[in-house]
Amino acid sequence: MRPEILYPFFADTISLSGVGGRIASLLEKIIGRRVLDLFWHLPVDIIDRSACPDLADIKYDQVITVKVTIGKHDVPPRNVKRPYRVWCHDATGRLQLIFFHVKGDYIQRQLPEGEERLISGKVEIYNNQLQMTHPDYMLNPDQKAEIPGVEPVYPLTAGISTKVMAKIVRGALERLVELPEWQDKSLLKREDWPTWFDAMNMAHQPKNHIDLQVDSPARQRLAYDEFLANQLALEIMRQQNSRKKGRSLTAKGHLIQKLLDNLPYALTGAQVQSGAEIEQDLARPYAMMRLLQGDVGSGKTVVALLAMLVAVENGAQAAMIAPTEILSRQHYASLSEMTAGMDVKVAILTGRDKGKARAKLIDDLQSGNIDILVGTHALFQKDVIYHDLAFAVIDEQHRFGVEQRMALSSKSREGATMDVLAMTATPIPRTLTLTFYGDMDVSALHEKPPGRKSVDTRTIPLGRLDEVVQGLVRAIAGGTRAFWICPLVEESEVLDLAAAEERFRHLEQIFGPRVGLVHGRMKTKEKDAAMDRFVTGDIDILVATTVVEVGVDVPEATIMVIEHAERFGLSGLHQLRGRVGRGAEQSTCLLLYGNLRGEAAKSRLRIMRESDDGFVIAEEDLRLRGAGELLGTRQSGMPDFKVASLEEHGKLIAMARDDARLILGKDPELKGERGQALRILLYLFERDEGVRYLTSG
Ligand code: ADP
Ligand code: MG
Repeated sequence: MRPEILYPFFADTISLSGVGGRIASLLEKIIGRRVLDLFWHLPVDIIDRSACPDLADIKYDQVITVKVTIGKHDVPPRNVKRPYRVWCHDATGRLQLIFFHVKGDYIQRQLPEGEERLISGKVEIYNNQLQMTHPDYMLNPDQKAEIPGVEPVYPLTAGISTKVMAKIVRGALERLVELPEWQDKSLLKREDWPTWFDAMNMAHQPKNHIDLQVDSPARQRLAYDEFLANQLALEIMRQQNSRKKGRSLTAKGHLIQKLLDNLPYALTGAQVQSGAEIEQDLARPYAMMRLLQGDVGSGKTVVALLAMLVAVENGAQAAMIAPTEILSRQHYASLSEMTAGMDVKVAILTGRDKGKARAKLIDDLQSGNIDILVGTHALFQKDVIYHDLAFAVIDEQHRFGVEQRMALSSKSREGATMDVLAMTATPIPRTLTLTFYGDMDVSALHEKPPGRKSVDTRTIPLGRLDEVVQGLVRAIAGGTRAFWICPLVEESEVLDLAAAEERFRHLEQIFGPRVGLVHGRMKTKEKDAAMDRFVTGDIDILVATTVVEVGVDVPEATIMVIEHAERFGLSGLHQLRGRVGRGAEQSTCLLLYGNLRGEAAKSRLRIMRESDDGFVIAEEDLRLRGAGELLGTRQSGMPDFKVASLEEHGKLIAMARDDARLILGKDPELKGERGQALRILLYLFERDEGVRYLTSG
């Protein structure tokens, strides 16, 4: 239950004065619907109105606040398009106020000739004359207090002006109350951080540009609060998981040895190491929750198989779930191949299996005739009953939701919790594993199997597209296959699609019917079918928007063309490039670029040429990803932070992690005084999923 002290924070913004239905829905689009969402909406700039010069002393464009006497109005005749001007002056000089689209007698009423007014706004020097277009404030001299000396400037929502936005947030801040201190007092002292209440007010009322910086004490404090909430929540979940009684599965070795003997290669050091970590987890009498991270082609499948064999050696079953039909079939093929000649029965179940064959398979599963079942979501279906499922591997885990993980654990034998190995081919920087996967233990395959040829990566201006196509004609004639990835246009799927279709038709004219198209708007089945034609060699060129499935193996494909590569993020480019270089042939990745505006785009392409290590690239990606860049955290699947920035406050994460462990070590149920305050923190940042696992305090 949310603590009562927070209720006002979660009220609808419509409860704020000056916010009606229209403004509330404008706010909702970008910021949110609740008062608290406005708390996290921090200013990006300030307007300093403290300068009150004599008009004669103004030498450059600046924001000023001046007391003037209103002079003549220059009213444009009807049907004449020119602005409305009002002359005014102080003892030293003259200033012209300019208004566009004036309706009625508004200006006459606001600025009657001969009266004194306080005017604040940006003055500009034009033809040696002082002008101010649409002043921000026009008040009677006795209303001076209404003009703030320094005004925060908020990121805007279309339809809400700077002034209105500032006023709305000011209204929200009136709801702030002091909350019990959840941070360690000595930490606050050491870092010189204010209380949450003060930090909130300071962050919203910057006095100068230094206060706006991400490393200002107020912003650091707020960021740290958020990281601590994040780390506490993850740590609670992790402790909870690891306390769940599970099965102890110990490696007996007979199947594993056979597999190792069968493999045409030796495991890499990283594979051996990860395998050992997983084996240890399995042997413990608790539920396992481990993530195996490894770049495409790093050899995760065999590690997963080793782990599944531990379950099988114990007479139990294992399941491996992949997000798509094609991936499932590829896993099925490679698991079958690796276990050939062993007494291990591998089967596959996808949405495509129906009728008698499916009934038979489920029978075999239930009777324990099947040891390892590979498949899609179909594995979660109600009537899919296992004999004794003890271990599950989830490939491309980010593609699965929490509900699906829940559905999975309901498949284990009554009372038992299941061991889970999640896998991902999206390397993330070390600092971030904490925020992403803090609730899991992580193993990483940093090393690739030996003898891999790195993909020859080149950057080519789009102007040379014809040459690229000619080269492709020769390469296809030589028997290879190619991916052609089409650009992200704006952020619109419709436009993406139009561009992809256009390129498809263009290539079709040159290559005939052996060109296919796959895009995000296709149904899963159509997508799978198009991918399949490429996998089986029915087509030589696959034109695609960025939907190309991570993990799909087409060893014959040796060419990856990425159009407008400058528009892609680094990790996206790296993932796409990972589609080639999977066979024995030398592969090529052609990054076609259009307009290389920002430095960041240039750096991305350079890094792509220089490195093919997913972990290095992930670090660089984080470094380059400025807050203003198009690649928002949402798109990259990163967790959403409200005030903290992974790029700017990254150093605080590890600190928060240690803190969270220490706190829960001392007070695992968050029952003490600080514990109670920390519960409020968790609710404040809406990381309260874990709180219900704690006994109520
Ligand atoms: P991932 O799933 O991590 O992208 P895979 O498991 O599909 O990678 O492995 C990619 C390829 O590397 C497969 O063809 C596999 O047989 C091969 N491979 C895996 N481990 C090794 C190794 N230690 N030495 C040589 N080849 C390996
Ligand atoms: Mg894989």
